Amino acid sequence: MKYLVKCECGHSVEVSAGDAGTKVSCHCQRLVDVPSLHRLRQSAGVSSISADLMIETMLQQGRLPEENECVGCEKPTTGIVYVNIQCERAEVRKPGYGLELWGLLLGWIVLKRKGEARIIGRDLSYRLPMRICENCRRGLNDREAEKLVRRIPLYNELLGKFPKAKVSLAMM
Ligand SMILES: [Zn+2]
Ligand SMILES: [Zn+2]
Repeated sequence: MKYLVKCECGHSVEVSAGDAGTKVSCHCQRLVDVPSLHRLRQSAGVSSISADLMIETMLQQGRLPEENECVGCEKPTTGIVYVNIQCERAEVRKPGYGLELWGLLLGWIVLKRKGEARIIGRDLSYRLPMRICENCRRGLNDREAEKLVRRIPLYNELLGKFPKAKVSLAMM
C-alpha cells in the first residue's frame, strides 16, 4: 500500500509503510517527515481496516515480520521469535437460576435452571513472528516479549484494540 505525504512545496511524495517514521526527499530537495504507520493509515482513511484484519492478511501473504532489524537492539538479523497474542477468550457463562412465580403461590421457592451455558466471545489468538536476534533472545520472558511487541506499530495497534490481550512467547 502506498501513502502520500505532503511536502511544503505542495507536491505529494509517495511513501510505503516501510518509510514510516523516516524522512524521504521530495523532488524539490526538501526532506519530508513521514509520520508513523498508524498516522499514515489514519490520514489515508484506512484506520477502519482493523489491525487484526491487516495482520491476518499479511500473515497469509507471508509479509510478517516487516522488520529486518531486531526489535530489541535494532541490529540487522534473520532471527525470529514467535509470540502468542491471545486477544479474546471464549467465556463460558453459567446458567442462572430463575424464581418461578407459581412456586411462590404454592409457598415454595422453586428455582429453575434457565437456559444452557453459553459461550460468549470467540477465541482470537495469533502466533506472530517478531524479529529478534540471538543476543536479545537470551533470557527473553513473556513480559519482555510484550514490551518488544509494543515496538512494532501494527502489533501495538492490535494490543490497543484488545487491551486485555495476553502476550506470551510461543514454543518454537
Ligand atoms: Zn517538495
Ligand atoms: Zn537484538
